Amino acid sequence: MGEGAGANTGVLLMGHRDTVYPRGEAACRPFRVVDGRAYGPGCCDMKAGLVINAFVLAAFKQLGAPRRVTALFTADEEIGSLSSRALIEAEAKQARAVFNAEPGRPNGGIVTGRKGGVFMKLAVTGKAAHAGNNLADGISAIEEVARKIIALHALTDLERGISCNVGVVGGGQTVNTVAPSANAGLDLRFVRVEDRATAMAAIERIVAQQHVRGATAKLEITGEFKPLVASADSKHLFEHYAACACDLGLAVTGEFAGGCADSGFAASVGAATICGVGPIGGRAHSPDEYLDVASIVPRAQTLALAIMRLN
Ligand SMILES: [Zn+2]
Repeated sequence: MGEGAGANTGVLLMGHRDTVYPRGEAACRPFRVVDGRAYGPGCCDMKAGLVINAFVLAAFKQLGAPRRVTALFTADEEIGSLSSRALIEAEAKQARAVFNAEPGRPNGGIVTGRKGGVFMKLAVTGKAAHAGNNLADGISAIEEVARKIIALHALTDLERGISCNVGVVGGGQTVNTVAPSANAGLDLRFVRVEDRATAMAAIERIVAQQHVRGATAKLEITGEFKPLVASADSKHLFEHYAACACDLGLAVTGEFAGGCADSGFAASVGAATICGVGPIGGRAHSPDEYLDVASIVPRAQTLALAIMRLN
């Protein structure tokens, strides 16, 4: 919307509509406000961010936009943005500035850096056999996956910002059978772009190394986020945003977050990007998720002012 055209002059506002909760959660835990805090699935991550994006768009539509403003409300951030990633990257490439309205930090800070993440599924195949009569004929996929998990967890190096965590395991058939199959869900996080390749090579070595004779393993990437790495342009954008907040009487700090978000895709194509500019809340992805209702208007005002003053 608005006037103004040409590459890299417009502003991109981003937000995701999906939440992490199972179907029916909203009926069990409907939206409510108690003592200035709103509750309900996705109230801060990130329905409130979509609300401020919509209000900023409505205000510019009514009063005239200072530049082209595009908003993307996508549907699959929580599972790795499989369908929206290409669209985010294409729009971000054209943008002078990208604001992602993920929730603001409980202290009012926004997010200037995020880890990257790769989500993977490891499937191990063995061979079933009776655990009492002919154990030696079997190939235990569970033993194979267990040994791999120990090696995978050893890749964690928190000082470098690298973590490798198996969050889900499954496998086996019955208690008295050598397990013919097993699987593990693996989450790799990293801060530096270059650490992805090193860590993935180490993971692939572990997957290839056979501990139980005859067991085979296959690794599949099921989702991925790029890290949000602060560039000179994104640092300027943060300073600009913080100055606008300051003029509205708000103190805003820039923080690093371990969680991944679509802002990483925008930053990875070179767009000046800041994240966490949504209203303030906490305990996302839990039944205690809350939104500070009083933060909605000031965050919308700060976003609008930051767009208006952008040069
Ligand atoms: Zn989110």
